[in-house]
Amino acid sequence: MDISTIIIYPAIAVIGGIIAGKYLFSSNRVSKLEAEKAAIEAGRLELKHQVMELIKEKSELENIVAELQKKVSKYESKDLILIKYEFSNTWGTWEHKSSKQLICTICVNKMPPIEQPLQCKTEHDCQCPECDESYQNNEYYRNRKIDLGQNPIHRSDNI
Ligand SMILES: [Zn+2]
Repeated sequence: MDISTIIIYPAIAVIGGIIAGKYLFSSNRVSKLEAEKAAIEAGRLELKHQVMELIKEKSELENIVAELQKKVSKYESKDLILIKYEFSNTWGTWEHKSSKQLICTICVNKMPPIEQPLQCKTEHDCQCPECDESYQNNEYYRNRKIDLGQNPIHRSDNI
């Protein structure tokens, strides 16, 4: 064995050891980075899922808001209709403040409200062309019953 062999082989062994060590170190680092990358990817997927859920929730809430706004606007429009009317106890329905036109109580309470004018067959009998509800002039029929002696309260008062 000459001197060069004594020096070269251990030197090769040392250099080989260093290279192997560096390789192992970088290999560990790579697998650690890959694990971190996988964790980040999993987190990213989780966030993406949460964002999708939030978008779905937002859309559902927007639908609820739109539905509520629709309902509120219907109530507002009923109030806007009835502002022009006053309730007539004689007819049991709404009467226009200036024109005295009667409208149907049932139809104005519908969703959405209908401002349905009544059609009158006589001065004392009206009907809704939309829902067929009948309205009578209560005062007229009350007075008529009294005149004909048909009011039971009126008769019992005389006994
Ligand atoms: Zn009606």
